[in-house]
Amino acid sequence: MSDAAPLIRLRGITKTYGQGAAAFQALRGVDLDVYAGDFVAIMGPSGSGKSTVMNLLGLLDTPTGGEYRFLDVAVQTLSRDQRARLRRRYFGFVFQGFHLLARTTAQENVELPLIYRGQRARERHRAARQALAEVGLAGWEHHTPAELSGGQQQRVAIARAIVTQPRVLLADEPTGNLDSRRSHEIMALIRQLNEARGITVLMVTHEADIAAYARRVVHFRDGAIEREDVPVIAADPSADAASAVKGS
Ligand code: ADP
Repeated sequence: MSDAAPLIRLRGITKTYGQGAAAFQALRGVDLDVYAGDFVAIMGPSGSGKSTVMNLLGLLDTPTGGEYRFLDVAVQTLSRDQRARLRRRYFGFVFQGFHLLARTTAQENVELPLIYRGQRARERHRAARQALAEVGLAGWEHHTPAELSGGQQQRVAIARAIVTQPRVLLADEPTGNLDSRRSHEIMALIRQLNEARGITVLMVTHEADIAAYARRVVHFRDGAIEREDVPVIAADPSADAASAVKGS
């Protein structure tokens, strides 16, 4: 792959659920290029195809038509097992509802993907502790989810997502269950992972102030990309200064 090739390339992607009279076309031809290091927010009304496209991007589902190239590999030519391997190797997932195992410590939750990879216990312990420290949870390794706040639980889920050193973080409404302050703390963390580690981030959100952490905002409507723009950051002081100058 040349440096200029996108990490992710979607061309004419369609997805139809069901068959015959009950068939429903959830995606109607989506073109999207995502480059290594991008931070893309996906917005749009309920039912516009955001979850469908995230499931396809994360190799959890396959499109009905069109082409998905990941690292210049045509994903549709791969077997189910090959796709699963690609997913485990390159993708980390964060969900609105955290999806942590209850009665299992933060450390053990973070180690799970490494157990699936067959990593030895000592390496697993070390990697999990390091990931927890990176999300600001050093000292919380032996707490269970019930002993952690929502924001801390989402931090554990992020540690679990990054412990495998993924290229791409897929986040589906990562702040949907959090209050405003915790939401902004989580977004600052995700942005730091994007900037410091260079993890490519694709995130679904309903909220413009959460999308403002991204560098690109892609708007879906009726199963297609309606438009793309850069986030509008309401709290930009230079914008205030510019309007103050204009207004005077
Ligand atoms: P969003 O995430 O933007 O709310 P979705 O991608 O979940 O939208 O859904 C897009 C459309 O596809 C919706 O109309 C939804 O009802 C439909 N849909 C999603 N999943 C399925 C499914 N498994 N079977 C049938 N229809 C589905």
